[in-house]
Amino acid sequence: MPTKLLLGDEAAAQAAIDAGIGGAFSYPGTPATEIFEYVDAHRARTGAAISALWSANEKVAYEEALGMSYAGRRALVSMKHVGLNVAADPFMSSAMTGVRAGLVLIVADDPGMHSSQSEQDSRHYQEFALLPMFEPGSQQAAYDLVLEAFDYSEAVGLPVMVRMVTRLCHSRAAVLVRDSGFERPAPPDRVLAAPSTDDWVLVPTNSRRRYRHLLGVQEQLLRDSGSSRANRLRLAGRRGIIATGIAANYVAEALGEQPEHSTLFIQRYPAPVSLVRELVDHCDDIVVVEEGAPFLERRLGGLLGIPGKSVRGKLTGALPIDGELTPDLVANALGAAHVSAAQPVSDLADRPPQLCKGCPHADSFRAIIEAAAPVGEALMMSDIGCYALGVAPPFRAVHSCVDMGASIAMAHGASQAGAHPVICTIGESTFAHSGMTPLIGAAKSDANMTVVILDNATVGMTGAQDTMVCGEPLLALLRGLGVRPEHLHVIEPLPRRHAENTALIRREIEHRGLSVIVAQRACIHVKRRAKDTVQEGSCGAGCACTPVTVGVARTP
Ligand code: SF4
Repeated sequence: MPTKLLLGDEAAAQAAIDAGIGGAFSYPGTPATEIFEYVDAHRARTGAAISALWSANEKVAYEEALGMSYAGRRALVSMKHVGLNVAADPFMSSAMTGVRAGLVLIVADDPGMHSSQSEQDSRHYQEFALLPMFEPGSQQAAYDLVLEAFDYSEAVGLPVMVRMVTRLCHSRAAVLVRDSGFERPAPPDRVLAAPSTDDWVLVPTNSRRRYRHLLGVQEQLLRDSGSSRANRLRLAGRRGIIATGIAANYVAEALGEQPEHSTLFIQRYPAPVSLVRELVDHCDDIVVVEEGAPFLERRLGGLLGIPGKSVRGKLTGALPIDGELTPDLVANALGAAHVSAAQPVSDLADRPPQLCKGCPHADSFRAIIEAAAPVGEALMMSDIGCYALGVAPPFRAVHSCVDMGASIAMAHGASQAGAHPVICTIGESTFAHSGMTPLIGAAKSDANMTVVILDNATVGMTGAQDTMVCGEPLLALLRGLGVRPEHLHVIEPLPRRHAENTALIRREIEHRGLSVIVAQRACIHVKRRAKDTVQEGSCGAGCACTPVTVGVARTP
């Protein structure tokens, strides 16, 4: 079998390709972005018959994947942890309907919040939805378990989750992969169940039947998890260590290959109760090491603990309850010698992230701040994207950043409370993701708020992926959502247009109703990349949009 040097994300994507997927679906989000990008690059390089298009948001991505599965082709859907909140509705329902061809959801958590607004542990969704889940501890396991997940999805007729974490997603290792050319649209050894459209229609009679079915297969899922090679029990000394996913590496690093302690490494859920019981019966002192929340530890101790046994972990303070694990933290909890080879570099000053030099958002913020200042104390709702960095000096123009699309709904709420001026900033991609729906309500009630859509023609924060809508189609969309043409404007955020932009924004802030201003100028990185191909008068991003002719502030 050939060996490839792969990121954890890439190993998972390669496995999906080798499993014969018909499509990959995703919305960009760190640390999951590279999963889709790897499949897309493979498709472009080899001409493989795999559909790979970014979706408008994670809910849409999940539904597209589910549709592909119903139609008889294997489908991969990947997203970051908070993306699963957006996709939770179809995700939960798909546990009830089941799937036809294999459907694998890879969800990438971000312990330590390197690039996220929360640390939530997606394993809770496994238990919530009663679905099988893998949690690979290495790049090789990411490859092997994603392959297995597709087969298992078809065997039990359910979607299968794969939970990864940043450190695994974004580090490389040699991975043994199947021979290339394995991919196939319908492997001959797979016989798919006939479509069962009654199962897919969740009206109450079907839902009750399907829920009983889901409950009925739980015993099988538990049995399969208990006998899976992904979960490994080794009984030795009276101290037991339970480690899940990537945490098993930290334990191995701290204790060596043949520790005197008993160990249970878990990479598959539902948690293998039979193996956990064996370990607990054998040991007096159990340390639970898991990346993320104290998910297993909480279940192990229950409300009252285990009489006569000590269970330690994040809940007891043996390990920190927040942030990312490190080899030293784990070694400390296990009473082993510290393992760090390198000392932390201490002579570098902290460098908080900031907008790139020349970023169009900086010019937009300057104009917004100056425009709002004479009108009153502005409430400035913002959103998820590079422009959230407008929270920092010198701008301080971001007063909220909660979840995708929240800026518009929150601004609407604030305007209903009588606040004025209320200004929200949102990127065009975030707007297409989740900002359109709240804007319909704001337009219908002509809410007293000013929305500035920062159209940089790309998904900048995650590495400049294609955006769903920008330029002229974005304006057409806004008109269609009910924004009044006399209060819909385009500006070009450039220093030389600062005075006219500021005047226009101030006029619209003073208007006691809904205004939408589209600040249209491409992200400098996309512009640089596309400079050889972009035509005169375009938005500069080289994207597929029909650009608005920028140059003067104008009413479209
Ligand atoms: S990546 Fe683009 S949009 Fe993001 S801060 Fe840099 S220039 Fe601005």
